[in-house]
Amino acid sequence: SSATETIRATLFPGDGIGPEIAESVKQVFKTAEVPIEWEEHYVGDQVDPRTQSFLTWESLESVRRNRVGLKGPMATPIGKGHRSLNLTLRKELNLYANVRPCYSLPGYKTRYDDVNLITIRENTEGEYSGLEHQVVRGVVESLKIITRQASLRVAEYAFHYAKTHGRERVSAIHKANIMQKTDGLFLKCCREVAEKYPEITYEEVVIDNCCMMLVKNPALFDVLVMPNLYGDIISDLCAGLIGGLGLTPSCNIGEGGIALAEAVHGSAPDIAGKNMANPTALLLSSVSMLRHLNLHDKADRIQDAILNTIAEGKYRTADLGGTSTTTDFTKAICDHI
Ligand code: NAD
Repeated sequence: SSATETIRATLFPGDGIGPEIAESVKQVFKTAEVPIEWEEHYVGDQVDPRTQSFLTWESLESVRRNRVGLKGPMATPIGKGHRSLNLTLRKELNLYANVRPCYSLPGYKTRYDDVNLITIRENTEGEYSGLEHQVVRGVVESLKIITRQASLRVAEYAFHYAKTHGRERVSAIHKANIMQKTDGLFLKCCREVAEKYPEITYEEVVIDNCCMMLVKNPALFDVLVMPNLYGDIISDLCAGLIGGLGLTPSCNIGEGGIALAEAVHGSAPDIAGKNMANPTALLLSSVSMLRHLNLHDKADRIQDAILNTIAEGKYRTADLGGTSTTTDFTKAICDHI
């Protein structure tokens, strides 16, 4: 897409602090003159019978039509008779890969200062297929599903991502020594795809060893691709390496090139409406969205402004040990742009 034409994107501000941090994204995009027009959708309090969820059919159609969107945190509605919001989005939009860039933020001190890796998690099957039952009293069974189709799809995305983002190595994370059939098939698919990308180094790392290496020296890794359960755990572990979920962006990739970027933290009801929320995770997710749209110069400008503001240390929100409000922090980012 050229930088001059206007791109329509769906925005779910979400609940709690969601509208406050979404406002921050809107202001930053305006300042950076990002050619995006937002279609805003809120989650209602009525179940839409067409989706069996509080998310309406119109909201889902908006993402399908625009092929790109940004999602704030959504409070999980309580009660029966509806599907979970995240499950609805994942199933309806076929969001098969969850991509989380994790890099050390200069000036924000953690145990590591050289993290720069990407986790890519298969998001549709594995242990999360929801196929559990009782065999007899006292014995239950859970089915782990691995398919060639879903494994090739996520492996293809990982190598394509590595190639288009100047990355050099893809590591497939597995436990194929024990899960010979399931993880074995996942690895076989990764190897097949690796052959099509001779310029990318491919390696296989057993999950337990991977955890040890990550906490010892996270700089050893570049792009990691893995089945659902391992991805769930490793992606949060990696978020912890750089300072937590409040700083970590994420993007979900769906069939046909749909991208739904989202902050991975929740709606933070304890600080909602107090102008205290840190918009960094949602802002960096919006940067992921811009990169998906190949708007790299806008993405670079916004990312640099965020990182410089945090590095300067003058404006930081309470979760990072500062006293700034959401609006002051946002204004500082806009000034950097
Ligand atoms: P939470 O992430 O909302 O809050 C945990 C703690 O982190 C709180 O102290 C909160 O103030 C703080 N925090 C989170 N994001 C922050 C930010 N951007 N800036 C500053 N501080 C921040 O987790 P929770 O309390 O377990 O969940 C609250 C609600 O959010 C629940 O309804 C839950 O279901 C929902 N939730 C939604 C998502 C999602 O939409 N992806 C993810 C997790 C939780």
